[in-house]
Amino acid sequence: MAIDLGTANTLVYERGRGIVISEPSVVAIDSLSGAVHAVGSEAQRMIGRTPATITAIRPLRHGVIADFEVTEQMLRYFIRKVHQSRLAGPRLVMCAPSGITDVEERAIEEASLSAGAREVHLIEEPVAAAIGAGLRIEEPVGHMVVDVGGGTSEVAVIALGGIVVSESVRTGGYDLDDAIIGHARSEHRLAIGQPTAEAIKLEIGSTRPLREQRTAELRGRDLQSGLPKTVELTSGELQAALEPPVRAIVDAVKETLERTPPQLASDIVERGILLAGGGSLLRGLEQRLRDETQITAYLADSPLTCVAVGSGRSLEELATLRRSARDGRRRRRRR
Ligand code: ADP
Ligand code: MG
Repeated sequence: MAIDLGTANTLVYERGRGIVISEPSVVAIDSLSGAVHAVGSEAQRMIGRTPATITAIRPLRHGVIADFEVTEQMLRYFIRKVHQSRLAGPRLVMCAPSGITDVEERAIEEASLSAGAREVHLIEEPVAAAIGAGLRIEEPVGHMVVDVGGGTSEVAVIALGGIVVSESVRTGGYDLDDAIIGHARSEHRLAIGQPTAEAIKLEIGSTRPLREQRTAELRGRDLQSGLPKTVELTSGELQAALEPPVRAIVDAVKETLERTPPQLASDIVERGILLAGGGSLLRGLEQRLRDETQITAYLADSPLTCVAVGSGRSLEELATLRRSARDGRRRRRRR
């Protein structure tokens, strides 16, 4: 199987079946016994609502493992769910952000092995995203992929199946949520939780002015009185609040373009920039990138799943390679 272990969401792809699990990367732990109380969507609903003895943990931060034990527990739960009752652990293709350190890479491998995998292969996320979106990356042609996840944005130029230039910034969808939380606090004296911030982002968030100004209700706790309070938020003020993290993402794309060899840059101008990851769904990001780089940016057909689909395809290829190697051996033996 192949796993896209993301800061926000974990997706599992099974050979021959496609995506079989897509759940938030959250684990609810009983803080007294350390036992896992719930994983995925069920644990997600507990965020900010847990009694004192249960904590909901996101074990990844900015694309890398922040809590090894909890990551391992989460992986074990997902692997078991898909790989029930089979004796040998699965062969695993795991996605890893490009540009992580050797130590971070080893943590992903070790967490996978101790969670029950028999074998682990890593694939770089931008490469997986490109394969999942159907780009023919093995050609001697440059492609640019921008993957905006929960905790990171990765920009990569790929040619001949490998990454030529890349840049990773620790700014993703959660940083947009944080910007909203900060804005509510400083401008409206209102304390809100991350899920509320995320919901408002999906409702009226944007990277450039909307054709028609929109408003949404923001519910939280008044910082002064401590009582529940509702304020009205306009899309314009939200856009201004989101600007710093959006700026960081746009700048990462521009800087990567500046470092791209001219021949590949001209390929990218011709083909456009592929956007993947849930964060790329923020309203107006494609146009914003187009305005700032003069290059067309377009969304993957399925931004939230293309990394998992791409790593799944690489898993199928791995199997084909092995099968043909095995057939080769058999043929040799028969002769
Ligand atoms: P990761 O790979 O880090 O797990 P994902 O690619 O699953 O991240 O993307 C998760 C992020 O995408 C979250 O921050 C979420 O708020 C954001 N997101 C999902 N849908 C939208 C949307 N329609 N508009 C803006 N942001 C979105
Ligand atoms: Mg991702």
